[in-house]
Amino acid sequence: MVEQSPYKRPNLVQFQIPQPSCNIRGEKLVKALAEKHIHKFKRIKYKSGNMIFFCALPDCNHKMNTALALGKRSLCWRCGEPFIMNEYSIRLAKPHCENCHKPKNSITREEVTENSSISLADRLKQTIKQAQKNEEEEI
Ligand SMILES: [Zn+2]
Ligand SMILES: [Zn+2]
Repeated sequence: MVEQSPYKRPNLVQFQIPQPSCNIRGEKLVKALAEKHIHKFKRIKYKSGNMIFFCALPDCNHKMNTALALGKRSLCWRCGEPFIMNEYSIRLAKPHCENCHKPKNSITREEVTENSSISLADRLKQTIKQAQKNEEEEI
């Protein structure tokens, strides 16, 4: 007989951020929350010409000189993942990580101009035809 443990709890680790709006126990909690998170920096420009980063998250009013933000962790405005700010991202109003820093159009210009009037389905058909043709020619 195999002895089985009657109840095995899966060891699930869940991250749950308490909602400050429904669980406020004074300023301490709000402060703790503000200090724990990764700031989501947004750049603003004062009328004086000075630029700073401030944290865009609701319970945080963290501010930082743009030069000091270099090498700091921020949340990406595109994918929401934390990343380290580099010389490029500190120049952005809404910094994004390197993963999100890709050219918008990976499609070549030829493809866009040639087939712009044809529907996607037709374009696919054409592409398939083209591919088959190429194969035949190669053989
Ligand atoms: Zn913050
Ligand atoms: Zn990203």
